[in-house]
Amino acid sequence: MTIYNFSAGPAVLPKEVLQQAQAELLDWHGSGMSVMEMSHRGKEYMGIQAQAEADLRELMGIPANYKVLFLQGGASQQFAMIPLNLLRGKLSADYVNTGEWSKKAISEAKKFSYVNVVANNTDKNASYVPAFDTWKLDKDAAYVHYTPNETIGGVEFNWVPQIDNMPGSVPLVADMSSNILSRPVDVSKFGLIYAGAQKNIGPAGLTIVIVREDLVGHAPSGLPTMLDYKTHADNDSMYNTPPTYGIYIAGLVFKMLKRKGGIAQMERTNIAKARLLYAAIDASNGFYVCPVATSDRSRMNVPFTLKDANLDGDFVKQADALGLLQLKGHRSVGGMRASIYNAMPLEGVQALVNFMNEFAKQHG
Ligand SMILES: *Cc1c(COP(=O)(O)O)cnc(C)c1O
Repeated sequence: MTIYNFSAGPAVLPKEVLQQAQAELLDWHGSGMSVMEMSHRGKEYMGIQAQAEADLRELMGIPANYKVLFLQGGASQQFAMIPLNLLRGKLSADYVNTGEWSKKAISEAKKFSYVNVVANNTDKNASYVPAFDTWKLDKDAAYVHYTPNETIGGVEFNWVPQIDNMPGSVPLVADMSSNILSRPVDVSKFGLIYAGAQKNIGPAGLTIVIVREDLVGHAPSGLPTMLDYKTHADNDSMYNTPPTYGIYIAGLVFKMLKRKGGIAQMERTNIAKARLLYAAIDASNGFYVCPVATSDRSRMNVPFTLKDANLDGDFVKQADALGLLQLKGHRSVGGMRASIYNAMPLEGVQALVNFMNEFAKQHG
């Protein structure tokens, strides 16, 4: 039976990447060592990390004046590191609240800064992206933070806020944990992009930060060394031991994405996958409902409820039996959630849709 894993994170990884890792597990390229056993300061491992960075730069078109940092602590640690490093003596930061992850970023930032929530979607249960012309931006804000894809709510921006992103103006900061590498982005529109790896990049334990150089080096004195971007930027993410195995796997994923035609090709497949699944939901005559506004539906995380919540248990059980795994919705919203990241093939979404149609027919 073919297994399709719809977990929101840690999530499915490309099979060919796992197979390559397996083949290289005990002896990486004739070194006689597993990558897990290598000194991070040895030439083998340093080559692996440098190649991963070069491939990520190429895939995303990261300009030369941006640093790529390989960190630990998860995206959640960035909720604190961002205000700590980017306030630069300013008193407040602008945040857009579009759901659960925005809220977490906001509550953490409030420990260090006045937070101005410039827009939110709480009037409609976090089900849409507030239009840019309604945002109450503050020209003196230290930065503007938003969450391009709300992993739990399934709300995704299909546009980038047009904020004048020049040195000296208010930089745009984005939590791309669950949609990085799923669609092309113009990195030069951002001051800082961050992402936990375990959704669309690689295993948990690695966090990637892409930051414009002029924003590094403004942390207040007394900030713990490990929380200062400058520490990591000045040391090629090797001030201390980086999450070496996670970086190695991420590097294999980057190589595979390049082989498969890069992010533009990924986007085409992701659009096809999302269309297929939303079309099935919308054609079900209300048996399945996606609560998100049509224009703001995520290509990565598709939440839906069943007309009769009493059927939830049966749905999950039957899906499981068919090898369609981890479809149960987030504990805060219930229902179902299908996460269809880059590594989920179109066939997986087709298998899910076939099952959903069959299940609806049985119970409709
Ligand atoms: C998963 C997720 C996080 C939290 O990531 P950790 O690595 O677990 O800290 C933050 N933001 C978004 C959008 C996420 O999807």
